[in-house]
Amino acid sequence: MKSRRILVTGGAGFLGSHLCDRLVAQGHDVICIDNFFTSQKINVAHLLNKPNFELIRHDVTHPMWLEVDEIYNMACPAAPGHYQYNPIKTMKTSVMGAINVLGMAKRCRAKVLQASTSEVYGDPTVHPQPETYRGNVNPIGPRACYDEGKRAAETLFFDYHRSNRVNIRVVRIFNTYGPRMHPFDGRVVSNFIRQALNNENITIFGEGKQSRSFCYVDDLVEAIIRMMNAPDSFIGPCNIGNPVEFTMKQLAELVIELTGSKSQLVYKAMPEDDPSQRQPDITLARKHLGWEPTVQLREGLARTIEYFRRLDISQYRPPTPNY
Ligand code: NAD
Ligand code: UDP
Repeated sequence: MKSRRILVTGGAGFLGSHLCDRLVAQGHDVICIDNFFTSQKINVAHLLNKPNFELIRHDVTHPMWLEVDEIYNMACPAAPGHYQYNPIKTMKTSVMGAINVLGMAKRCRAKVLQASTSEVYGDPTVHPQPETYRGNVNPIGPRACYDEGKRAAETLFFDYHRSNRVNIRVVRIFNTYGPRMHPFDGRVVSNFIRQALNNENITIFGEGKQSRSFCYVDDLVEAIIRMMNAPDSFIGPCNIGNPVEFTMKQLAELVIELTGSKSQLVYKAMPEDDPSQRQPDITLARKHLGWEPTVQLREGLARTIEYFRRLDISQYRPPTPNY
C-alpha cells in the first residue's frame, strides 16, 4: 500500500488512538491532533518514538494548517457525561471542527472522513436503524449538543461535497467499547466493568430494559479504514456497529459473570432522552465494505476486563460526576 500523510483529529482518544496504531503499523505518516479534553497522552505514548508518528496539542475549533492526503475527524467528546460537561463547547467542536477539517481538505484536496454517530437517529422509532431513517432527536434536550452537533457536521460534509467537490466519507458509529476507554467516562461498559472489578454496586439506569448493540474497537477500526479506502462512489453515510443487541440488564449480568464479581445490581433514575433501543442495520457496510464484525460481546468484554484489571486507575481523574 502506498504510504500517505494522514491526520487523525482526536487521535489520543479511545477510538483515535487505536486508529493511529493501525495507520502507523501500515507505514503511513500519521499526525495526531488532540486537546486532551477526554484523553490522556498515555494512549499514544507508545507511538511517540516512531518516526512516522507526530503528536500536536491543538483544539479543532481553531483553524489548522497542515498538508495531508487524508483526514479522520474523530475529535469530539463522546460519552454523555463528557459531552454534557460543556455543551456549548461540544457543539463548537462538532461544527467548527468540521468546518476546519473540511476547509483543510478542500485546500489540500485531501479525503476526509467524519466520525458521526448513531445519535443522529436520536431515540429511534424505526428498528433496526437503516441510514435512510431520518431520526427522532429532541433538539433542545441535554443530548442535543452532541446529536445536533453531529447532524450539523454531516450537513457540512455533504454541502462541502456538493458545493466544493470535497472527497468525503461519513460513518455513523454505534456504541463501541474496548481497551483505552476512559475508566471514568460514565459510559455503560466502562462503568459496569470498573464497578464489578471493585465489587461496587452496578448502576442500572431505569429498569435496564433499554438496549444497545456493542461493537468491539478492533472491528470498528477495520471498518472505518475500509470506508476511507472505499471507491469514491460510496461516501456514506454508512452505519458501523455490531447488530447483536443486548439490554443493559443482560450486559450487567454478563459483566458480573465474566469478572466473578460480588457486585449487586442497583437501579437509578433513567437519564432524560436516553434512547430506549438501538441496533444498526449494516446492510450497506456488508455490501460496500465487505465488512462484518468478528468479535462478539463475550470475547470483547473479556479483553476489555483484562485491560481494566491491569489499569492503574489512580492515574485517571474522574472528569465528570460518575455514578
Ligand atoms: P474519546 O472521548 O475517547 O475521544 C475523543 C478525543 O477527541 C479525545 O482524545 C478528546 O481529548 C479529543 N477532543 C475533544 N474535543 C476536542 C477539540 N475541541 N479539539 C481537539 N481534540 C478534541 O471518544 P471516542 O469514543 O474515542 O470517540 C471518538 C469519535 O467517535 C468521536 O467523534 C465520537 O463522537 C465518535 N463516536 C464514538 C462512539 C463510541 O461508541 N465510542 C460512538 C459514536 C461516535
Ligand atoms: N447506563 C446504565 N448505567 C450506567 C451507565 C449507562 O444503565 O452506569 C445506560 C444508559 O442509560 C444507556 C446505556 O446504558 O441506556 C448506554 O449508555 P452510554 O452512556 O454507554 O451510551 P449511550 O447512551 O450514548 O448509548
